[in-house]
Amino acid sequence: MKAFNHTNAKTLAEARTALAGGKATLIAGGTDLIGTLKDNILPTYPESLVNIKTIPDLDYIKEEGGMLKIGAATRLADIAANPVVKEKYTALAQAALRVATPHIRDMGTIGGNIAQLHRCWYFRKPENRFPCIRKGGDRCFAMMGDNRYHSIFGAVERCIAVHPSDTAPALIALNAKIVTNKRTVEAEAFFDVKVPGNTVLAADEIITAIQVPTPPAGAKSAFLKFAIRKSIDFPIVNCAVLVAGGAPRICLNAVAPKPYRATKAEAAIAGKPINAENAEAAGAAAVADARPLTATKYKVQIAKTLVKRALLATV
Ligand SMILES: Cc1cc2nc3c(=O)[nH]c(=O)nc-3n(C[C@H](O)[C@H](O)[C@H](O)COP(=O)(O)OP(=O)(O)OC[C@H]3O[C@@H](n4cnc5c(N)ncnc54)[C@H](O)[C@@H]3O)c2cc1C
Repeated sequence: MKAFNHTNAKTLAEARTALAGGKATLIAGGTDLIGTLKDNILPTYPESLVNIKTIPDLDYIKEEGGMLKIGAATRLADIAANPVVKEKYTALAQAALRVATPHIRDMGTIGGNIAQLHRCWYFRKPENRFPCIRKGGDRCFAMMGDNRYHSIFGAVERCIAVHPSDTAPALIALNAKIVTNKRTVEAEAFFDVKVPGNTVLAADEIITAIQVPTPPAGAKSAFLKFAIRKSIDFPIVNCAVLVAGGAPRICLNAVAPKPYRATKAEAAIAGKPINAENAEAAGAAAVADARPLTATKYKVQIAKTLVKRALLATV
């Protein structure tokens, strides 16, 4: 691991100043970032890390003004255990609970979870051995290589790495907004970027909070995840749904370079009762546009089944 400076920011302004110039990187829980530094996966190495956990008031969960507000440095374990989140924003609590292990959830934050880098073993190969498109290179090594965990909905700029966040689809299904020190962005738009971008964040932009509108009375949400290991693993596919009135919101992740809003599934079940037959049809509609590679065909069936089961979990 190369040496770097470490700054404990006391204010957002201090953190932003430290980020200016592009030679520093934010650190929250460090559970994703430190691994990328140890493995030296990126072509450029930060000269310093700016710790945002030392900024007061970035760690909270409260309901206010018809919405749930979560500070960006709030730990996943606290979100998973919060009684209000569990009751009214169930998909988010369930997603936070399914991230990694208790130790990682005790360190990892919601801000870091949505800003984490993509999963692809070529992209993450130690010592930057594969200078892929996501690193400014000219090719996707996974496209012709081992891509069994990659996209089933095509590429973005020829990159087929998947976005691995468990909380991202829950936030999109719950119609959340991401608040930064510069603006407020719909959760769905937050990931809508061209490669090599990971999120819409600028180099000196800091997520400060997540806002989730309180679902109407009677609304139900659910999150399901399929992973190879049950104890600790990134999703092969995950899925979050919100059923509020006749207009459900359904989002998959780990199936594309950004979270995939399953709008055809939403249309298929809109206004209909949630039962086995309609949920099955919604699952089929969710994968109607899938274009899997030979090695990722199995993920299509998993995505279809997760949509069906997540919908049925709200009944
Ligand atoms: C073994 C292992 C298993 C894992 N399993 C899962 C899993 O199952 N599901 C899953 O979703 N994730 C998983 N992760 C990934 C990661 O640990 C979690 O996503 C965690 O929530 C990251 O949060 P963090 O605070 O540690 O982020 P950090 O590592 O501190 O930061 C991650 C990235 O986000 C940026 N960042 C952090 N906070 C902010 C902010 N406020 N504003 C702007 N940028 C910010 C950092 O600069 C960095 O680029 C796993 C990681 C490991 C090591």
